[in-house]
Amino acid sequence: MKAFDYVRVSTVDETLAHLRSPGAQLMAGGTELVNWMKEGIESPGLVVDITNLGLDSIESGPDGLRIGALATMSDVQADPVVNRDFQVVAQALLRSASAQLRNMATIGGNLMQRTRCPYFRANASLPCNKLVPGSGCAALEGGVTTSHAIFGGSDHCVATHPSDLAVALAALDASVVIRGDQGTRRSPIAGFHRLPADQPEYHTELRADELIVAVEAPAVPSPRKSHYIKVRERASYEFAVVSAAAVVDVEGSTITDARIAIGGVAPRPWRLWQAETALRGLSLDDAPRIRAAIAESFADARPLPGNRFKVDLAQRTAVRALRKAGTGA
Ligand SMILES: Cc1cc2nc3c(=O)[nH]c(=O)nc-3n(C[C@H](O)[C@H](O)[C@H](O)COP(=O)(O)OP(=O)(O)OC[C@H]3O[C@@H](n4cnc5c(N)ncnc54)[C@H](O)[C@@H]3O)c2cc1C
Repeated sequence: MKAFDYVRVSTVDETLAHLRSPGAQLMAGGTELVNWMKEGIESPGLVVDITNLGLDSIESGPDGLRIGALATMSDVQADPVVNRDFQVVAQALLRSASAQLRNMATIGGNLMQRTRCPYFRANASLPCNKLVPGSGCAALEGGVTTSHAIFGGSDHCVATHPSDLAVALAALDASVVIRGDQGTRRSPIAGFHRLPADQPEYHTELRADELIVAVEAPAVPSPRKSHYIKVRERASYEFAVVSAAAVVDVEGSTITDARIAIGGVAPRPWRLWQAETALRGLSLDDAPRIRAAIAESFADARPLPGNRFKVDLAQRTAVRALRKAGTGA
């Protein structure tokens, strides 16, 4: 780890002033950043500790939910209103990392975490365009592609985004609230993480001189009808192989509205837009037509040699999440 300066800030304006220094990096819970510094993924000249900013409130009202960027994953997971009306968020958080990590880690930091692609985390010993632009992509050059993307990848990078929370928030049509010198702006979470194209080194829409202050999710029509399923190689403390978040509105057993995002399959939470349209008007009991509707969103999947299984697994996970959200069964 390289030597760095450290400052603890207490206002957003002070934070923005420090972000003007080249090489400054924000630190919230530190559960990602400190690992990156140890592994050589990041070497900030200045670490700006934002844990004193007080942006940790969890508020809900008729317009929806607002979570401060510095609320910890465990506080949000345990919040009674989140559990009652936005249970897809609570379920995603409960299945993330470990209890100890969730006690430290924050909502803003969770959304800013980087890919778990083994080549990105291989300490620059193998080609990775995300880590060292222009060095190549070990996954695409004959490497192991089990954990990689089936949607949204490019010839330069096929890494997936690992946040469970982001998948749940995408199904809720949530936005990231961002502060910079120009004021406040909002970025829909479904597009917040950048697709790699030919510049995989850019991870999100957040600029270097901005910070996340909150996440906002609009109120949902049927507050109790949402569900998150995470498929992983072991039952706890593991990233998703694939995951699915569903938010559904029903009349009787007829689907009137459905929003589905899947994780572990793309550089960002992947909304199944075509499926959502095709699902409207179907009965939750009509499993064959639900499966066919979900499959519509997979026509443009581009699996790699090591991850063809994800096409089927992600569809089945999405179907299960939808039916579970709709029926509670
Ligand atoms: C062993 C392990 C297992 C894990 N398993 C999972 C899992 O299953 N699912 C899952 O979703 N996650 C998992 N994680 C990731 C974990 O959720 C993140 O490490 C954590 O959420 C990061 O939050 P933090 O507050 O510690 O961020 P930090 O480490 O403080 O920061 C991470 C990044 O976010 C930036 N940042 C932080 N706050 C802000 C802000 N307000 N505005 C702008 N930028 C900001 C920092 O500058 C830095 O770039 C795991 C992590 C570990 C170490």
